[in-house]
Amino acid sequence: MTKKEMIWDLSQLVESTATASVRKKLEAMVGEAEKIRKTYHGKIGGLNAKGLLELLELEDAYTLGFEGVVKYCRLMYSADSTDDTAKQLNDAARRASVKVGQALAFIDIELGKLLAEKQSLVTDSMLAEYKHYVERILRRVPHMLSETEEQLIIMKDKNGINAWQMLQGDWLSTRTFDIEIEGKMKTLPYGKIIGLYQSPNRDLRKRANHIVYENLGKDEIVWASAIRAVCEDHLQMCKMRKHPAPMTQSLIANDVDQQTIDSLMKTIKKNVGLYQRYLRIKAKLMGLDKLANYDVVAPLPNAPEMDYAWEEARKEVVEAYTGFDEEIGGWVDEMFERRHIDGEVRKGKRSGAFCSSWLAGKSAYILQSFNERMGDVYTQAHELGHAVHAYLGSRAQKPSNYEIGSCIAETGSIFGELLLTERLLSKAKTKEEKQAILANVLDEFGMAAFQVSARVFFEQGMYDIIEQGEFLDGETVAKLWVTARDEIYGDSVDWLDIMKWEWTMKPHYYIANYRFYNYPYVYAQLFVFALYRLYKEEGRSFVPKLKRLLAAGSSKSPRELAAEVGFDITDERFWEKGIKQAEEFIDMLEQTL
Ligand SMILES: [Zn+2]
Repeated sequence: MTKKEMIWDLSQLVESTATASVRKKLEAMVGEAEKIRKTYHGKIGGLNAKGLLELLELEDAYTLGFEGVVKYCRLMYSADSTDDTAKQLNDAARRASVKVGQALAFIDIELGKLLAEKQSLVTDSMLAEYKHYVERILRRVPHMLSETEEQLIIMKDKNGINAWQMLQGDWLSTRTFDIEIEGKMKTLPYGKIIGLYQSPNRDLRKRANHIVYENLGKDEIVWASAIRAVCEDHLQMCKMRKHPAPMTQSLIANDVDQQTIDSLMKTIKKNVGLYQRYLRIKAKLMGLDKLANYDVVAPLPNAPEMDYAWEEARKEVVEAYTGFDEEIGGWVDEMFERRHIDGEVRKGKRSGAFCSSWLAGKSAYILQSFNERMGDVYTQAHELGHAVHAYLGSRAQKPSNYEIGSCIAETGSIFGELLLTERLLSKAKTKEEKQAILANVLDEFGMAAFQVSARVFFEQGMYDIIEQGEFLDGETVAKLWVTARDEIYGDSVDWLDIMKWEWTMKPHYYIANYRFYNYPYVYAQLFVFALYRLYKEEGRSFVPKLKRLLAAGSSKSPRELAAEVGFDITDERFWEKGIKQAEEFIDMLEQTL
């Protein structure tokens, strides 16, 4: 049932899709970087405000000039990693990017030194547009190494962490799983079999989980080797860069501080009971004494048939956004109209979903595996929220001011999911429909705020174990995973034994320079639930506030952005506001019992 409109059109990213032309453009990208190096290497220390402004503007123009070609190669590979041309172009783009990284590594280092010596530049009115950008560089300065060392790190990562990451991704996208569905044996790629986790058939869900995790567990030696290398490499780098804790690099990258994240995680620990209360209500709705792990995010058994064809999903999502704001709704529709979304399910396609901003085109591209379930419509609404962020940000900001940390990156996306919830709830005709919608939003909330918190504890656990001199083999990692998981779920869920391998499939753990990718999801979930509460209280006058917040990109810190809409994120009571919104949904659900 493949339809053309479900397959994205990447040709808009490049002048020509001819392989030779793409390669030429990649060569030009490296050539231009070398030119910038020739002009500026060793000279940044002598720049005044005007000279610095010219350099920053040149960097932004460079980003916009070559963003499309790199994106073209990478997205093509994400869409089909078995395609030879895609493989070769992705590799060419990767090699070109490494060369560019090496050629331009001096900029951050020299810029850091310049700013450390002439701190007045940070407040110079000529650089007003880049103020927060240079503030962030200044924060990184104490952790920067020499240019040679930085180049060596890029080189070691290329065949080190990056290779582990690729191995993990390639394993998942090239494996197939044999499973019996309605009496027939089927062979499914990973992206397809995980769709069965949400099947209304409980036995099928159980078997799908079993088959996937049993297979993942068989290769525990691969996963343990990979995750151990990634974690140990990180701890080494922390020592070299003088990061006081394994989380520091992530805090700097996300433009937040330890105190904020500590109070966030404290709020979660304090409220695990609320999540467990929801899981017990869900068990009742499913007619069970207790949920098993394959029920946690499953649809309710009496949920009405709510499958969505591609066109229906488009309609719901576009109208959900339009109800909030006409302009935003128009952009969402444009994403479909210009075929910027790849929804087809195919072997060789990257699993999961993502949105990739295309700043030069003032737009974005989305990849997802669309299985026509309500969850897929939510994924679409989610990723389109990222796209909206890109539409607003690329119109208001230069690329340097659109390097959005993960805490804020999820604002548009989760808000979009809540808009979809509101629309679907308002159209719900029966108690069962209402229950299905609320369970879906609470499942998402539970996963992002609570299940992901388990991953934060898990990751911290791995660093602690390594620092204690213990060896991270597969069983040790699995034990850490189970301990962290149980801290969140208590005794509210029964787990299949093989679920101890759940950590193996999470791509984030294997991505270079992406340690502690997790707490921003928790942050974002509570942040947006709090924003949504504000929208319900203030109505229309809230709309321009949210648009301003998204359009600000990374030109302000999350703390400043929150303050703009009237929140103090260093105050624990702020996080409780997000919890309150979740509690309201749980109460609504309980009332339907
Ligand atoms: Zn997202």
